[in-house]
Amino acid sequence: MKIKEFNYAKIKAPGIDQRYLSPEQIDQVTASLSVLWQKKLLGYSVEQRPIYAWSWGEGPQKLLMWSQMHGNESTTTRGLLDLMRLLDEDTEWTRQIKALCTLCVVPVLNPDGAHAYTRFNAAGIDLNRDAQAQTQPESQYLIALFNSWKPDFCFNLHDQRTIYHVGDHPVPATMSFLAPAADDQRSIPEHRARAMQVISDINEWLQSYIPEGVGRYDDAYNINCVGDTFQTLGTPTILFEAGHFPDDYSRINTRALVCLSLYTAINSIAFDLYVYQDIDQYLSVPQNGKRFVDILVKSPYRLSSIWRQGQALAITLEEKLVNGAIQWWPSIPEVVEENAFWGHKTYDIALAQEQLLLQSKEDVWSVIQNLIK
Ligand SMILES: [Zn+2]
Repeated sequence: MKIKEFNYAKIKAPGIDQRYLSPEQIDQVTASLSVLWQKKLLGYSVEQRPIYAWSWGEGPQKLLMWSQMHGNESTTTRGLLDLMRLLDEDTEWTRQIKALCTLCVVPVLNPDGAHAYTRFNAAGIDLNRDAQAQTQPESQYLIALFNSWKPDFCFNLHDQRTIYHVGDHPVPATMSFLAPAADDQRSIPEHRARAMQVISDINEWLQSYIPEGVGRYDDAYNINCVGDTFQTLGTPTILFEAGHFPDDYSRINTRALVCLSLYTAINSIAFDLYVYQDIDQYLSVPQNGKRFVDILVKSPYRLSSIWRQGQALAITLEEKLVNGAIQWWPSIPEVVEENAFWGHKTYDIALAQEQLLLQSKEDVWSVIQNLIK
């Protein structure tokens, strides 16, 4: 991924190309930041891991960003670490931003989940359903930070699964965004409109990198979600969902796009560029659908009469943490209607038989294993 807006190769944090990102790896990256970034301990997780907030800048616009409240969603954290290094560079742009904005960044809100590579915290709670109950220390720190620091914009950073596509097209939703609802009626008060305008700006920039690859997330209101809560409290809040890029399960390209999106958002807010955007642009970003599977095996009826024509086998790749790295394991195939799904990879048994590529049923398994590699 080449980013023309800045020298991405130079600022890209080294050594974090894999999906598994431990709290120690995050510490290694942040340890190399200059004194422009100030570290503050927010408190300790359920398993007593420290949770830090990093602040940067002196400007009046206050931007709060947190990532990895779901421990197995590291792509936005990696892009966020890249952004921290970008802001650590002494350039004309960073000097201007420093005078216009102050950032407060929590790279990993759920370090226990990051360590174990799970969505949940160590008590088994989804922190993004704990905004009202606030039963967990991690939730309490974030809400306390929000209440005391009073940000002007919030960025809630996540990963989404490979199932998502943009609109009705077989194009992966490599990046998705949402200005969460602020009430049951999903009305658009002024502050929510501002979140939409910033997303419109990000979308415009991203189109030159991933044409048609930007989706809009469902805005069903759930006050238990942190983003919905902050939006309800009147602060423009933006949800990022980093998604699939073709043939890139480590999400190296998506991570670069996260960094670019954050850069664009900061630029847009610092220089008040978003005010020129129309919320109709945001509303015209296609909504995400869920019709992708990782591997789609077509025409299985050619192998056995237990399947009929028109059916296909859908295989999902499931992540497993093995010795500090993520491995991808195929799920048990699910029988689906062939026309109802798209595969990131597709294998048609009928076609293979016609081309004499497939001699026996046993060959199917080896073909599927090859597709996974
Ligand atoms: Zn998430």
